[in-house]
Amino acid sequence: MSHVLLVYAHPEPRSLNGALKRFMMERLEAAGHQVLLSDLYAMNWKSALDARDYPARDPEQPFNPSLDSLQAFNEGTQSADIAREQEKLRQADAVIFQFPLWWMSMPAIMKGWVERVYAAGLAYGVGEHSDRHWGDRYGEGSMVGKRAMLVVTIGGWESHYGPRGVNGPIDDILFPIHHGMLWYPGFEVIAPHLVWRTGKVDEQRFAQECAALGERLDTLWQQPTMRWRCQNGGDYTIPDLTLREDIAPGQSGFGIHLRS
Ligand code: FAD
Repeated sequence: MSHVLLVYAHPEPRSLNGALKRFMMERLEAAGHQVLLSDLYAMNWKSALDARDYPARDPEQPFNPSLDSLQAFNEGTQSADIAREQEKLRQADAVIFQFPLWWMSMPAIMKGWVERVYAAGLAYGVGEHSDRHWGDRYGEGSMVGKRAMLVVTIGGWESHYGPRGVNGPIDDILFPIHHGMLWYPGFEVIAPHLVWRTGKVDEQRFAQECAALGERLDTLWQQPTMRWRCQNGGDYTIPDLTLREDIAPGQSGFGIHLRS
């Protein structure tokens, strides 16, 4: 049996997202998976990372988010809500982040989950840091062996987010999450599941969306992963961490970090 952690952010259970969340949980459980749920609004998740997250720190010293996080992670003195989420992450074979696209990104409460749960020593600051090896990240790190997927509802049309769409391509908009938050600590990322033009969802569309999403969930472990380049795999020069000049010569932008 595999464990799937569903990190979910919507303030209203009777929303489209609420209905999709219930559908996902039932589908995953029917397939024999154990679902670990982090329903962030229902948990009243504290989204701001601050000194209260590290109750054992010396209050006389200036608060240093990275160093205090590292020390508390190593010494087991992080606040209990953070430690509980890290334990879910440790158990999870796959993590699904489900959210409505708000201002081109995840809702603030979910960003706050990432900021607080991704402690120094767990999600960053892992491995050797030297002029030869710039940490275990982008393809290496604590989440190696786990899969991750985004399930995102989007008010706009698919064409608004196409290659020439006014909002910019959806792959670019999701790049900071896919590459910077998931691939960075070592997750294998599969293609996002996107629900477009949410204002037009009715009973019929909802059934179609559930059918498509259900197929994605049924094949969670068979789907190809995004082929991001590994930082320490030889494609980048270290320590300047730029793509080697003979790879994708003359090109720049997010796309160069995908292996062709
Ligand atoms: P709801 O509003 O709950 O539902 C959408 C539709 O689905 C409704 O018609 C509802 O009747 C129907 N529905 C709900 N449940 C069911 C069910 N069980 N069966 C059948 N039909 C159902 N959009 C963008 O494209 N880009 C942005 O940057 C962006 N930023 C935003 C920022 C904010 C702060 C907000 C509030 C919205 C933003 N939006 C943006 C729009 C946003 O992405 C959508 O409002 C959201 O994805 C819709 O999801 P929901 O769960 O809130 O849907």
